[in-house]
Amino acid sequence: MIFRNIYWIFWLHLLLNSMIPCSSARAEPLFTVVASTTQIADLAREIAGDRCRVISILGPGINPHGYMPVPNDGKTVASADLCLQNGLHLEGKNWMATLVRDNGNRPIITCSDGIIPLHLDYDGTVVDDPHAWFDPRNAAIYVNNILKGLIVMDPEGASQYTARASLYLNQLRVLDAWITEQFHQIPPEKRILVTSHDAFNYFAARFGLTVRSPVGWSTGAEIGGGMTPERRRHVVASIREGQVPAVFVETTVNPKIIEQIAQEAGVRIGGHLYSDAMGPAGSAGERYIGMMRENTLTIVEALSR
Ligand SMILES: [Zn+2]
Repeated sequence: MIFRNIYWIFWLHLLLNSMIPCSSARAEPLFTVVASTTQIADLAREIAGDRCRVISILGPGINPHGYMPVPNDGKTVASADLCLQNGLHLEGKNWMATLVRDNGNRPIITCSDGIIPLHLDYDGTVVDDPHAWFDPRNAAIYVNNILKGLIVMDPEGASQYTARASLYLNQLRVLDAWITEQFHQIPPEKRILVTSHDAFNYFAARFGLTVRSPVGWSTGAEIGGGMTPERRRHVVASIREGQVPAVFVETTVNPKIIEQIAQEAGVRIGGHLYSDAMGPAGSAGERYIGMMRENTLTIVEALSR
């Protein structure tokens, strides 16, 4: 009998809980923001709060240079109140702008607008480097562009968006100073960053590293992209000459090339770096600041030995 009573109390409790609205439940988002990449989606979430649902077309670890949109991406973009892209041809063959144009022509913001791009010279062909977010000062420009877009989309949310952006810009300044301080631990002659593709030029320029990679600015077939035998030879030679202690695998690029180069040059793999996408949910690199922090710790650990 006692057991029977306990049984009923249990079910009554469940029933009541299902009827009472949970006070901590989030309000339904009012707007939908669709970003091309994970890092842009993360910056947008930091500013948008719960007023917007932020969706990233690319998932963690997905390479934006060679991405081919699927039909579902069109539906996602068509549902957007605002779309966000990196620009500078990070989205290979302008896939995000094309998706937007072909699916309702929703408003789109190019987050890299206003940055001073680094120019990469590949045998006389000059290309704007798209990986601008790796300099936290550029990430701040992305944040301000996203903020402007959100305010135009939703003027009523302006004060909240502005307040969140202001806090986040402070966090970016702290991040920038922290990374600078961390790299002081690496002896100057060892500050050489060897990775699969040319993703870290902004990072290197900001924090005093030299970069080498066998693959150009894009892993796709664009001019200046892909691996050439000369680049590969040059990288192996510079590892040997510079006595580079370690090379790094990127999370969005097949590790084979860099593993072969490490073997050929006789150096170890220093770890994985988040490059064109952030880490999966629950990983230390799932947010922009986490990704930058983890990359810094990995590089400092491997090069300061
Ligand atoms: Zn890239």
